[in-house]
Amino acid sequence: MASKRIAYFYDPDVGNFHYGPLHPMKPQRLSITHSLVFHYGLHKKMQVYHPYRASAHDMCRFHSDEYIDFLQRVTPQNIQNYTKLLSLFNVGDDCPVFDGLFDFCSMYTGASLESAVKLNNDHCDIAINWSGGLHHAKKFEASGFCYVNDIVIAILELLKYHSRVLYVDIDIHHGDGVQEAFYLTDRVMTLSFHKYGNYFFPGTGDMYEMGAESGKYYSVNVPLREGIDDEMYMHVFKPVMQSVLDFYRPNCIVLQCGADSLGCDRLGCFNLSIKGHGDCVKFVKDLGIPLLVLGGGGYTVRNVARCWCYETSVLTAEEISNELPYNEYLAYFAPDFSLNPEISTKQENLNTKQYLDSIKQFIHENLRHVAHAPSVEMQDIPPDLINLETIDHPETDPDVRNNGDEERRAEHANEYYDGETDQDKEDGFLDV
Ligand SMILES: [Zn+2]
Repeated sequence: MASKRIAYFYDPDVGNFHYGPLHPMKPQRLSITHSLVFHYGLHKKMQVYHPYRASAHDMCRFHSDEYIDFLQRVTPQNIQNYTKLLSLFNVGDDCPVFDGLFDFCSMYTGASLESAVKLNNDHCDIAINWSGGLHHAKKFEASGFCYVNDIVIAILELLKYHSRVLYVDIDIHHGDGVQEAFYLTDRVMTLSFHKYGNYFFPGTGDMYEMGAESGKYYSVNVPLREGIDDEMYMHVFKPVMQSVLDFYRPNCIVLQCGADSLGCDRLGCFNLSIKGHGDCVKFVKDLGIPLLVLGGGGYTVRNVARCWCYETSVLTAEEISNELPYNEYLAYFAPDFSLNPEISTKQENLNTKQYLDSIKQFIHENLRHVAHAPSVEMQDIPPDLINLETIDHPETDPDVRNNGDEERRAEHANEYYDGETDQDKEDGFLDV
């Protein structure tokens, strides 16, 4: 297969935010991932971009104005003035207010949005944004460490040029925010593999959740028990993906690669190896369908960085050594200093082949209701959300900062944005 054109988005500031010392979400994992990617030389195989920063206007493509306005205003210093809104928007413990919160959202969302624009314009075959994939955020509220749902916003952009978008989620948690947004439409199929049961967060994602109205059968859920290993995961991932591809025939795929499905994750309880997780990415990449690859959960920081670096090598089809190159975070990788250490746990695998086969069968039967092409004729294509002309400058050195041209970009973005075409409903479901 001819080598792919890959766009890689990284903002050198994105790893400098802190949710708080005891909070399991560590944005620093993004700096460490990038350091591995860079020191393995993988950046030479991709176009590296310093991403666009999403405006409040961009975020309101999905979220309510009141919620985004609140995110823009609230700071650790003025938080006591917002007690009512904090509980209204579910901001507090899991989703704390921290310094630079809005800038953080703006960075990871801008990178996903620009990825979508690049794919729409056929400027790449694969776009990678490890800082994105915050799949729990809802239209009116934060949830599960997620504030702005960059995935929904990127998919809305992709829908301008792609009639059928497939969303695939291999984070250990259910991709509830994305599923909810597109629950009523056949323009997006959401497929989530996740731990389900015993009140595991967020509590949704039973296989009987399958979409409604025009979206009936276009939400697909694979509820798994704890302890699943590589072999069993592939035993369900491949055939379910194959059924989805056969019946839905997507012309674009968004893959959320949450790394909390790895063994030894601080919050997760699956038992995947980095190679096993990466095999899912390889399977999707080898389909040759335009692909947006995103991060997501992942709370054992050293393994998140290993996993997403390894997956960058899979996407660029570069073999890389198991011995980690010298990098400023090397101490994190003691004692083995390797890319693919043994991370399986002694945890019992509560999934059985029989259980997985019954899920596969159920999903296959449901998918038979899915027409090959949804009843959508592509209308006149609306203008791009952001103007590619102003942002199409790959960084030659990924560590060199841009010098304040974000404001200029943002102005252009607003100029070309047509807010009047928004058709989102009040209930959080999108009408696309
Ligand atoms: Zn997760």
